[in-house]
Amino acid sequence: MAILDRLPTRVRLMRMGLVIENDRCIFCDLVPETRNHIFFECDYAKSLWKAILLLCGVNRRISHWEGELSWAAHCLKGKSLLTRVFKLALTSYVYVIWRERNKRLYGGLLRPMSDILLSIKTDIQIRLDGWPINRSDSRNIALCVSWGIS
Ligand SMILES: [Zn+2]
Repeated sequence: MAILDRLPTRVRLMRMGLVIENDRCIFCDLVPETRNHIFFECDYAKSLWKAILLLCGVNRRISHWEGELSWAAHCLKGKSLLTRVFKLALTSYVYVIWRERNKRLYGGLLRPMSDILLSIKTDIQIRLDGWPINRSDSRNIALCVSWGIS
């Protein structure tokens, strides 16, 4: 749904004719809430995505939605551990940002960014449990240390 831009963001709901208090982003309250904004333009989400990239050993400027997906499609190919971790992290990231958005929208407690990042790391550790990892590759060792993969 996120890739197809079908998530019921506030802007989409208003376009569908639903009466909503306002169309502002729940994280920053500065601009209309669109898919592109809440995932890769909002400073809140960008700081989490930046932390994920750093855990993957990638230090670069964050792009927009299409830019990030196109970067992933171009750079992450094959069956390397980095590709596997990155794909899982992207999926987990989209899930947790949307879940956090819904929690805040419906009055839930705000979670610190460190807790959210930890939940993504735990998700990846569980998903990679039993995954064959070449531990003679120094990049894999660094990834395992960063992500806490045993
Ligand atoms: Zn925002």
